[in-house]
Amino acid sequence: MSENALNLYLKCVIIMTIIDIILDAMERRILFKTIEIIEVGLRDGLQREKTPIATSDKITMIHQLVDAGIRALQVTSFVHPKTVPQMADAEAVCLGIEKKEGIIYSGLVLNMKGLERAYDAGLRHVDMSLSASDSHSRKNANQSLREALDGFAAMVKKARELGLSVRAGVQCAFGYYEADVTQEIVLDIVKSQLDLGIDSLALADSTGMANPRQIKTMLHAIKPLIGETPLILHLHDTRGMGLANVVAAIETGCTRFDTAFGGMGGCNFIPEALGNIATEDTVNMLHDMGYETGIDIAKVAQVSRTLQTIIGQELPGKMYQLLGQ
Ligand code: ZN
Repeated sequence: MSENALNLYLKCVIIMTIIDIILDAMERRILFKTIEIIEVGLRDGLQREKTPIATSDKITMIHQLVDAGIRALQVTSFVHPKTVPQMADAEAVCLGIEKKEGIIYSGLVLNMKGLERAYDAGLRHVDMSLSASDSHSRKNANQSLREALDGFAAMVKKARELGLSVRAGVQCAFGYYEADVTQEIVLDIVKSQLDLGIDSLALADSTGMANPRQIKTMLHAIKPLIGETPLILHLHDTRGMGLANVVAAIETGCTRFDTAFGGMGGCNFIPEALGNIATEDTVNMLHDMGYETGIDIAKVAQVSRTLQTIIGQELPGKMYQLLGQ
């Protein structure tokens, strides 16, 4: 190669590298302006609700939430109907949805049977999680953390064979009442889940005990492990720190959050935990802060008001009430 040709080649490489860096920075800026909301109201939001909600009402709410701009929803969970009667119609809900292109409809599965039920009901995205608290794991899944980890690996393998995408999660990642959760335990679970080749990872503050500083510390610790795997934060507002935790997470680079319309929600085995952060409240704050979600809050609030009428009581969310006045 002549000296001129070599110079030209080197110049091209330098220019290409600079363009690459600029494009990467632009992409990060664009991505960072957009916050992704995953609506979990149909699952987490309803699982503890005693008033039976008709399958047709659930399906209508799913359609309305998609119409409001929601792009990813947990539509049900495949648990034993005796454990969570509200989810007894999981198959009927999934089969009744008019699925739209580009929308992620997922279901929570707790065991192999649930996984197969989700697949047979036509879902192609499943959420499965482990509890970082051994004590909660024994109550929630009737298994020790160690046993649950083994079962989890088998479930991911099976989901892969069925061609399903897997969102893995860590419940009680920020603490449980028996104080048996440490950051080290959470990081170990995250590592083992990532090793299984999951598609995304959700950290859940199932009890609503996390504070903003703790959120930042945990997310900084997870960053080097997680690489490009999408990270989702699942927050409960038990102590009123939900939205403060969202801001702390965004400042640490997290751009995906689970929310529930009207702020409904709570684990059946954590009676003290209150609802999820409300979709309307979270989206309202994000829009006010200049972030984009693609969600029409007024339309989501309408769904919350419908649910309020069905169950005959006020929901915990704030914005849906303000928007209804
Ligand atoms: Zn939850």
